[in-house]
Amino acid sequence: MSDNMQAKTVFFRAFGCKQNQYETDFLREVFAANGFEVVDAEPADIVVINTCAVTQRGAAKCRQAIRRAARHGARVVVTGCYGQIAPGEVAQIPGVILVTGVHGRDQIVSLVKDALSPGGTERDCPLVQVKPHAEGQPFEETPVQRPVLTRAFLKVQEGCDDFCTYCVVPYARGPSRSRPVSAILEEAGGLVERGYKEIVLTGTHLGLYGKGEEQGEFPALSEVIRRLCNVPGLQRLRISSLEPHDVTEDLIECLKLPQVCHHLHLPVQSGSDRILKMMGRRYDVSLFLETVRAAREVAPDVGITTDIIAGFPGETEEDFSKTLAVAREAEFSRIHAFKFSARPMTRAYHFPGKVSEKEKERRVSELIGLGKELSVEFHRKHIGRIVEVLVEDERAGNGLLTGLTGNYVRCFLPGPDVYRGQIVLGKAVRESSNGVYLEDTRLR
Ligand code: SF4
Repeated sequence: MSDNMQAKTVFFRAFGCKQNQYETDFLREVFAANGFEVVDAEPADIVVINTCAVTQRGAAKCRQAIRRAARHGARVVVTGCYGQIAPGEVAQIPGVILVTGVHGRDQIVSLVKDALSPGGTERDCPLVQVKPHAEGQPFEETPVQRPVLTRAFLKVQEGCDDFCTYCVVPYARGPSRSRPVSAILEEAGGLVERGYKEIVLTGTHLGLYGKGEEQGEFPALSEVIRRLCNVPGLQRLRISSLEPHDVTEDLIECLKLPQVCHHLHLPVQSGSDRILKMMGRRYDVSLFLETVRAAREVAPDVGITTDIIAGFPGETEEDFSKTLAVAREAEFSRIHAFKFSARPMTRAYHFPGKVSEKEKERRVSELIGLGKELSVEFHRKHIGRIVEVLVEDERAGNGLLTGLTGNYVRCFLPGPDVYRGQIVLGKAVRESSNGVYLEDTRLR
């Protein structure tokens, strides 16, 4: 690092999905390897914001974070999805010195150096370095040495070709590209060696893994999972999210592997076939429910979580009640409910039949209420049973240790600090909508 860059502190903020968290871990390491001091809180000389653009609200939160960092005197580097799709908009925010997108993450430090003049002050206008997406772009390696304790995200795929009518992600992340299986296995081996108990497979659209690639280094996703389960010492493998139409019989069979967590995140989005069609989703309600049934047959304790959009253009009260009915039938263990957010560039932005904000809010709160009810029911099924929890580093607000079961139930348990980072057994004695409380705990 040149003199003017010495002793610069840098702080990172990640918005949005698990993939952004993974990539932020990578960026953190790149800066640290280049002599920056990575700090845990603002203020910092440089603040790197890895942005999300999936909803209007997500983009607004990123703008707020940029302004806040600038108010504290930081020079702000904006990267990720929002930078990719709206670089001009982002570059206008005072304090921004550099805008990049979702490519060339390993170049970011040299871009920061370019963005700062030899005197260490920013140029007159921000440097904008956003590479457009191109067909056949290779997967960009961003291996992480120090992800969060206990669970490590492992990115295996990036991009999406589906273009659901409401979704900005394919514009932000570009076409699907996949990571060779040898690189996946190598990173997984390293993570296990360093003591991580759980690996979470992530991707923008995981089910597209291998699409458009030669076989060999890019086998089916189910095969990648099988090979990962053979990594000596790996205790848990979690599949972060699958589009319902991507869940093959082979993938369901993977739930039989002892390391694979009994948890599927299947975004249903709506329980009305009419709305699913308008959304450009590639399944209907009966296929969705069939998939849920098949998963429960193989793994009766499977936790099925979901995302639902309320107030898609044209969604009637009848469509919405179908969604509530499907949620009950699928017995989701957790519902993430979102108001429809019209994103520029997407087809649904122009759809007629807008649902009022007030009505969208009403539907979201009904979904949240139902989600809590279903979570309690799911959690109650665990009472009296011995469950296995991977205990996290931080204690919960109530002072208890906390962690997740394989089927994605949050647990709260008394116990010593040595439990942190370990798999602990405990008896579930009480449930709430947030999870279950354990007693009689012991190390596995
Ligand atoms: Fe977006 Fe649809 Fe692709 Fe998911 S599958 S990232 S919702 S376009």
